[in-house]
Amino acid sequence: MVLATTSTTAATASYWQREGADTALRVTSAPVRADIVIIGGGLAGVSSALAILDRQPGASVAVLEQRFVGYGASGRNGGLLSPLPVPVWLLTADKNEDHAWALRALVRKLHRLGAWLSETVPESEVTPCMLHLQATGRLTTGGLAVIARTLDRSGIDHRMIWEPHRDSRPTLVLPTFTVHPYRLVRALAARAIAKGALVSEQAGVAGIESLPSGAACVRLADGQSVEAGKVLVCTNAYTHTIAGPRAPRAKIVRNYMVETEALDDETVARLGGGQTFVVELNKSYIFYRVHQRRLIYGGVETFFGAAKSDYEVPSAVLQKLEKHLAHSVRWRRPPPIASAWGGNFHSTATDLPIIRAAAQGGTVSFNIGYGGTGVALTQLFAPQAATVALGQPCGDDDDARVARIVASTRVPLAGLLRLGGRVVRDIVAGKPERGA
Ligand SMILES: Cc1cc2nc3c(=O)[nH]c(=O)nc-3n(C[C@H](O)[C@H](O)[C@H](O)COP(=O)(O)OP(=O)(O)OC[C@H]3O[C@@H](n4cnc5c(N)ncnc54)[C@H](O)[C@@H]3O)c2cc1C
Repeated sequence: MVLATTSTTAATASYWQREGADTALRVTSAPVRADIVIIGGGLAGVSSALAILDRQPGASVAVLEQRFVGYGASGRNGGLLSPLPVPVWLLTADKNEDHAWALRALVRKLHRLGAWLSETVPESEVTPCMLHLQATGRLTTGGLAVIARTLDRSGIDHRMIWEPHRDSRPTLVLPTFTVHPYRLVRALAARAIAKGALVSEQAGVAGIESLPSGAACVRLADGQSVEAGKVLVCTNAYTHTIAGPRAPRAKIVRNYMVETEALDDETVARLGGGQTFVVELNKSYIFYRVHQRRLIYGGVETFFGAAKSDYEVPSAVLQKLEKHLAHSVRWRRPPPIASAWGGNFHSTATDLPIIRAAAQGGTVSFNIGYGGTGVALTQLFAPQAATVALGQPCGDDDDARVARIVASTRVPLAGLLRLGGRVVRDIVAGKPERGA
């Protein structure tokens, strides 16, 4: 058994990975055999390991991670537990009672999750916060008005600030939590290890093959192999790099972040003192928060198909982020950027994850595609991923209903048209600014 911490020197490491570099884990080398092999040590992988061990205490569960736990998006994100983790249902909840119910159910679960995390893994810095969704023009103001009405009808706690003070914008405010993402994923991995899971780092998987016995052979890049009763693939944007069962289709999105030098007291207070997470509804989908007096600022998405050199930030993207940063906050002088990093995530057309068995038999399942709301969603859907991986029926009625609703959700073309129609109608009637 090895006590492993992560390298802090890599130029592409995130602020969180450097700041949380003291998080040691009792990792082991890959076992020869396990009942369940989970590929990928991000939030989806470690949350699934925990959920599997909750359902089947004593099962042998091995998590195989190519680099280190929290190397991918889970150690590089903004750390928001989004109170709107399935945005697509906001377009349909006004007409579809199932979607309104599922939104409510997930928000309830999210608040229970926040309380559970602060009690169980306090080192992950779970902090109650207010999400501020800021409109940046007439169209997004209209869009926020429609979303606020849907939240009203769905019974979800929120408030709308329509007449903000000088220089600020119409804002939809929802209560939620932030975390230190890297400390969170490492803390959940430590908890899985304490419950009996084996976690191996530097254990990249090259391929998965079926064995005549019905089990699977998980081939590692270093030539070793692990015999697995079941395999759960949680490799997010890297899923296509593993040879074996065909990966479900999902778009790969790259998102970028920067960290500024420390801010003065007045600016920290103005930015909500670490208890506000701002999302600007603009084309670059800018988001920011304060951590340890630094502004952690992200946005700008690019798309790519095949794996490129990981996590570097192109200079054009950095310039774009700097430009946004200068306008997002009223600075006397914008603070210098101390570091920048990128991260990749899988995204589906509905922004809902793919949690299902591979087409070829029930040995291999996928738990991927968490898009830009995976910090909460990976954890909220972990029980479902566990039941799919184990090939068992879902024990909890609410989870089973959410799973059925997820499976039947399609790209909401009608919902998009309705939203567009209402926004335009409101603008023509001069309503959004009044919040009618
Ligand atoms: C910059 C950025 C900001 C974001 N901000 C937020 C936010 O504020 N709130 C939010 O909810 N979501 C946010 N997200 C999205 C969120 O981070 C992801 O949805 C979530 O982390 C996905 O978790 P995961 O476990 O599926 O993927 P990952 O964390 O990427 O984990 C996959 C793991 O698999 C490993 N792996 C890959 N291939 C192999 C292999 N062959 N063998 C073994 N291991 C392998 C990788 O190294 C990686 O550790 C953000 C994402 C980015 C990039």
